[in-house]
Amino acid sequence: MSIKVKFWGGVQTVTGSNHLIRTDHSQILLDGGLFQGRRKDFYDINTKFPAPLSEINSLILSHAHIDHSGNIPTLIKKGLKGPIHTTTATAELCRFMLPDSGHIQEEDIKFVNKLNRRKKRPLRQPLYTKEDAIRSLDSFRGHHYHQPIKVTDDITATLYDAGHVLGSAVTVLDIQNRNRKIRLAYAVDLGRKKLPLLKDPEIPTKIDYLIIESTYGNREHEEITNAKGKLGEVINRTARRGGKVIIPSFAFERTQEIAYFINELQQEKKIPSMPIYVDSPLATNITSVFRHSLDYLDETTRQKIENDQDPFGYNRINYLRSSQESKKLNDDHRPMIIISASGMCEGGRILHHLRNNIENKNNTVMIVGYMAQNTLGKRIVERQPVVKIFGQEHKLKAEVVKMNAFSAHADKNELMAYVKQCGRTVKRVFLVHGDENQSDPLFRELIARGHKAHQPKKGEEITLG
Ligand SMILES: [Zn+2]
Ligand SMILES: [Zn+2]
Repeated sequence: MSIKVKFWGGVQTVTGSNHLIRTDHSQILLDGGLFQGRRKDFYDINTKFPAPLSEINSLILSHAHIDHSGNIPTLIKKGLKGPIHTTTATAELCRFMLPDSGHIQEEDIKFVNKLNRRKKRPLRQPLYTKEDAIRSLDSFRGHHYHQPIKVTDDITATLYDAGHVLGSAVTVLDIQNRNRKIRLAYAVDLGRKKLPLLKDPEIPTKIDYLIIESTYGNREHEEITNAKGKLGEVINRTARRGGKVIIPSFAFERTQEIAYFINELQQEKKIPSMPIYVDSPLATNITSVFRHSLDYLDETTRQKIENDQDPFGYNRINYLRSSQESKKLNDDHRPMIIISASGMCEGGRILHHLRNNIENKNNTVMIVGYMAQNTLGKRIVERQPVVKIFGQEHKLKAEVVKMNAFSAHADKNELMAYVKQCGRTVKRVFLVHGDENQSDPLFRELIARGHKAHQPKKGEEITLG
């Protein structure tokens, strides 16, 4: 008789979170994240699972980010029958995030097959299509925080606010093994205190085992409270030059935070009046989820919505859906702010805005999120003098500003504090969701402070009791 955890995806790396909890009677998955990396690994890794899918009872989803939710359509297509338990907000966000992900994969495979056709190689199928993604939504079951969910006869789950993105949860599992009980917390991803729009992360009690992220296990973030001021400075400086501010941004969460701050800056007359655009249909849909998810927002934002104070700037900000509206911006040379996706500048409408604006030194590209290696976003952060967009070379003359304050992940000090606050009942802390250079230093720090920590390897199975 045993309770085991198998660390499968998002182990020694940040993408593709997926773990298995196995008792004598049940098997459940924590997260079904999409592994994002080189194309060859992409198909390989995203179609290997920690157990036969028909034997799995259920999946518990921590939040709507694609590296946690994005492989759910594959799991369902390949035989997962059980329900997907998550918060009501995450379930709603996935209605937009997953079909969008399916669409991106269909587009990518079109591009791959163009090459395959030319080289007379066999054509490939997308990992899943938009249709597959839409079908998978039927399996979602939305729950509110703090309500125990009877997942199987021997596992009960309770979701606590992770303060990371809208609807994000620290999953707590109460697992009954004969006359013994084990309480395990899965804090992946974990947010930060004082993030705009969100409540602070909650700390569950009486935890025996803690699985925690280590994305920034070796980094200290700038104070989030400085972010709005710095945003204002950059906008003012660019407006004085008569330039445009171009902000590549993830459609989910970061766009809503930036829109919230810019709207406030303009309400407070700290920046001049100028047109503001959120140019991403996905971001526009997601903002509408924020607007009616009152229970999930912090007190300040909730009150603003209830008092009709328009925190997402629907009266000031133009939320664009159609591509005609988007294209019109190319010929508009007034100072303006454009927030657009994709976040790492790898596709989407942001590419048009960058192509049209980075050669003008009066303009600013503001980087507000993480940029992975080998992305256009990364090349812009590195201020490479010439960058390729749609296969054409462009001189990067616009000012480039990088802001670190917006991170939605706990940093080194916040992770240490969280482990400490979980208390002395914790028998072991497992570090996942981090590259070695971030998780190793955190591991050493935890050991130095007397915590029993472990860095699981991919596929490693550990008996908890
Ligand atoms: Zn996340
Ligand atoms: Zn993540």
